[in-house]
Amino acid sequence: MFKKILIANRGEIALRVLRACRELDIKTVAIHSEADETAMHVRMADESICVGPSSAQSSYLNIPAIITAATITDVDAIHPGYGFLSENKRFAEITEEHKIKFIGPKSEHIKMMGNKIDAKKIMHTNNVPTVPGLNHLDNDDKVNDFINKVGLPIIVKAASGGGGKGMRIVNKKSELKKSIEAAKVEAKKSFNDDVVYLEKFLTNPKHIEIQILADSYGNVVTLGERDCSIQRKHQKLIEESPSTILLDEEREKISNLCRKAVNSINYEGVGTLEFLFEENKFYFMEMNTRLQVEHPVTEMVTGIDLVKQQILSASGEKLKIKQEDIKIKGHAIECRINAEHPTSFIPSPGKITQYHQPGGLGVRVDSAVYQGYVIPSHYDSMIGKLITYAENRKECIEKMKRALEEYVIMGINTNIQLHQKLIKSNEFNEGKYDINYMSKYI
Ligand code: ADP
Repeated sequence: MFKKILIANRGEIALRVLRACRELDIKTVAIHSEADETAMHVRMADESICVGPSSAQSSYLNIPAIITAATITDVDAIHPGYGFLSENKRFAEITEEHKIKFIGPKSEHIKMMGNKIDAKKIMHTNNVPTVPGLNHLDNDDKVNDFINKVGLPIIVKAASGGGGKGMRIVNKKSELKKSIEAAKVEAKKSFNDDVVYLEKFLTNPKHIEIQILADSYGNVVTLGERDCSIQRKHQKLIEESPSTILLDEEREKISNLCRKAVNSINYEGVGTLEFLFEENKFYFMEMNTRLQVEHPVTEMVTGIDLVKQQILSASGEKLKIKQEDIKIKGHAIECRINAEHPTSFIPSPGKITQYHQPGGLGVRVDSAVYQGYVIPSHYDSMIGKLITYAENRKECIEKMKRALEEYVIMGINTNIQLHQKLIKSNEFNEGKYDINYMSKYI
């Protein structure tokens, strides 16, 4: 087992990893930027080390500085959290070259799944249904044939895409060339890779994803699904597990396919296969090779600590959980709390003058902020996650309403009011929402 882990991240996820380490009796090293000197993850870690100035590029993305910090503090492993370097193949490689374990899959799997075209090919070979698409856009006849076959609208997507960037929906054939060019420019700028591809645009799907957990001995389990259809600009806002519309046999069928596909490539660690689900059909979009922001809803309904399991697997332990032991029980919902205006969505960094977080049975807050904390302007606006858990969905929603009401964050703008509206809406209560819900709502 590892003795000391460096957490290459900040905010709530750094704290989440730190808590798992502490329960496993592993020492922690926090890294931080100059702006994060007083951050909670720094205060709570056993050791901390500054890796650079405030900008993410110079600190949390600064590979040489992070590797130096890991070497100086003599850690056995690095946990990358999500975002930042968590899906950076080169970082995983360099970490391993320094004889430090990267807590995540092998770099070859990060690369394989980092390219959505390749990921879809692998899934297709393993009988996982994928979104119909076209990968080579240099032949106009083939492009025309594809559009005629699947019909408009279609979507242009970046092969290396992430965070909703590099996507363009095309409603008219005449818009196609311009949209491809625009997506290429954005993809080059964001991912340094201008390869784009086409996909059939599904008009009213749900976003449903399957969580997997694998060890390095070929054991893979699936932990049910999360419905992440409530999104703004392709960014998730509310997630829940289980989904309101999935039948037990549909869950089992897709989970079995996912398990086989992941097994076929000898994948290890945690991972998520993301699907669109329309008219009772699944369409694979991509696989995330890291811990997801929304992992707590899965933890609540399965009772399994995903971060601890991830660390145990990375340390070379065999998975003790068997598929037949995994039972989905009750219902969990997560609201992402962002420091932003509830209607204009303008980020709202600054000082939290008053802070009271909700509690009670079935209420979990994963956050790293506190009263007096100054939210820096340099990073993502998500400042926490409010998760509720109850026997059934109705009670879970009631608990979420109560918890949102109880949450006091003063001095900055937050999206708590927006969550209150969404949670109370008929569509949410009936569970019939799809990925267009937010655009209709606002
Ligand atoms: P990213 O990696 O940038 O998050 P994804 O491929 O996961 O991109 O897609 C993000 C979101 O974009 C999906 O949850 C969905 O809302 C929308 N989307 C992506 N592909 C399609 C598609 N073919 N049809 C309809 N919506 C899509």
